[in-house]
Amino acid sequence: MTNANKTVVVLGAGVAGLAAAKTLYQYGFDVTVHEAHPELGGVWANNYRSLRVLEPKWVYGYPDWPWPPETPLYPPARHVRSYLSAYAEHFGIRDRIRLNSRIVEAAPTADGRWRIVAETDGERESAEYDYFVMAPGMFNLKKIPDWPGREAFEGEVIHSSEFRDGAQVAGKNVVIVGFSRSAMDIAVDIVDETDSLTVLHRSIRWPVPEKILGLIRNHVLLFARWPTHFAPPWIRPGKFARFLHGKLQGGVNFFWKFFEVLLSAQFRLKQRKLEPDRPIRLDLFTNLYVAPPRFFELVGEGSIAAHKSEIESFEQNGVRLTNGEFLPADLVLCATGWRHDYSFLPAESLEKIYARDGMHLYRHMLHPALPGFAFVGGVQGINSATLYAMQSTWLARLLTGEFTAPSAAEQLAEIAALKAWKNAFVSERPNRSQVLNLHQMPYIDDLMGDMGLEKRRKNWLADQFAPYRSADYADVTATANPR
Ligand SMILES: Cc1cc2nc3c(=O)[nH]c(=O)nc-3n(C[C@H](O)[C@H](O)[C@H](O)COP(=O)(O)OP(=O)(O)OC[C@H]3O[C@@H](n4cnc5c(N)ncnc54)[C@H](O)[C@@H]3O)c2cc1C
Repeated sequence: MTNANKTVVVLGAGVAGLAAAKTLYQYGFDVTVHEAHPELGGVWANNYRSLRVLEPKWVYGYPDWPWPPETPLYPPARHVRSYLSAYAEHFGIRDRIRLNSRIVEAAPTADGRWRIVAETDGERESAEYDYFVMAPGMFNLKKIPDWPGREAFEGEVIHSSEFRDGAQVAGKNVVIVGFSRSAMDIAVDIVDETDSLTVLHRSIRWPVPEKILGLIRNHVLLFARWPTHFAPPWIRPGKFARFLHGKLQGGVNFFWKFFEVLLSAQFRLKQRKLEPDRPIRLDLFTNLYVAPPRFFELVGEGSIAAHKSEIESFEQNGVRLTNGEFLPADLVLCATGWRHDYSFLPAESLEKIYARDGMHLYRHMLHPALPGFAFVGGVQGINSATLYAMQSTWLARLLTGEFTAPSAAEQLAEIAALKAWKNAFVSERPNRSQVLNLHQMPYIDDLMGDMGLEKRRKNWLADQFAPYRSADYADVTATANPR
């Protein structure tokens, strides 16, 4: 049987779903994609107006799909949408995407296939496939806390992803809840339009600047291999990592302290009373975010007020904070994050793979208890398009028998080892199992190793010190025999 006889259904047409669909299609599978929204692109299609990619374009992208030359260095969301759309068109998967079509059920059948129920314009349709690849993203259900008194509030409460238009904030007292990257992006974007602007935060995380000391672009460090040696060592540390984090631990601590002092000075965190309370060593590897230029400066000069407090309740014209203070508000913008929605999976499947801290899967993709199932995009790295293209290639090569997965027992042991490793230094949260951040590089190395490929894409010196770009993996994600 050729792969063309094998059917695959992909849930979602965001960055991950498109990578999976393109790759599996190129490897000869008969692919169908269901996308709940009217447009492809996922988070890049439905978000706040100033959203742009945090990394330079040569770092964020599909390895075998370059950006058009006129794309700005940090591509705004509309450029990402065009980029993704052109990708779907070029690789022949556009016609395979069913828009406005939500998968409401995905269940394994007794004969090892997957029965999918999709709802399109209120009509439900069921079909069976050999494989089910889910790519619903990790940011798919808006999370807004249920504060008391909200019904009495005469202003508006919206999620950060719903901010589109200056008229929503013009001349208003705006309160942003959260200290995430989207909170900061929006604050910088609207500061000149609002009457007053306050950002509420519970705790502060270490910001990474676009340019370190205003000179060196952050990707020079974030995407190079050598700084990863200072990270908590990957699951099975080699000799060098054991030595560095054993006998030379003092040196590692000094490295991170130096980095803290440097960032603190650059953002003047002490003077602005915005010093994070967790060591950067842990923060960077669990909560990495790049601060928009000017945010801390605007806080310093008082244009944006930053309060360490939370909303206790709503009142008619504003919010009462837990510190007793009252803030007048016309608009409360909740940059309070997202929840997962995996409700399309039956409870008996979900309980095999899902825990309080997210999904626990082999290589973050598979589980021996769910044959024919894969999750692409179920891991949060630092340049997700490259990461998800690599996951898709790994999956396609596995399904076409280019390599074999280890036994079920070995997969379960690996899942358990990864879980224990994350528990050791990432605090519990709903997506702990899916956090990779700067450990993306050793994870990609593992995928390369499984595929029998050399993980080093450059000579020794460049491999350690030059930043890795998406294009460094172009020959891996491009198929030898595209159809
Ligand atoms: C505000 C914000 C900024 C970000 N910035 C960056 C950045 O600068 N760099 C970076 O590397 N990453 C960034 N990310 C991470 C980002 O999520 C990834 O870059 C990537 O776009 C995620 O792609 P995805 O396909 O996994 O998920 P999504 O983009 O969420 O796409 C999932 C798709 O699945 C669809 N879907 C969900 N459920 C169903 C269903 N039941 N049936 C059918 N369709 C369904 C959704 O409609 C959606 O279109 C950012 C995320 C957010 C939220």
